[in-house]
Amino acid sequence: MNSPSRFRVRCPNLCCRRLLAVPKAARGHLVRCRHCTTTLRVPGIRLHSTEGSPIARVVA
Ligand SMILES: [Zn+2]
Repeated sequence: MNSPSRFRVRCPNLCCRRLLAVPKAARGHLVRCRHCTTTLRVPGIRLHSTEGSPIARVVA
């Protein structure tokens, strides 16, 4: 049950928290947890860009 075309996301519903196997094609899209019907966004599209970011980095 470890298909390379799928990956896992955890349901954000605190009453559920199940691991969902979603196809990689669903990255960036909304999917519904079949256990609790909560809709969640599948991560995968890069949210943080280190190149040309207008946001200044915190330097310690
Ligand atoms: Zn759920």
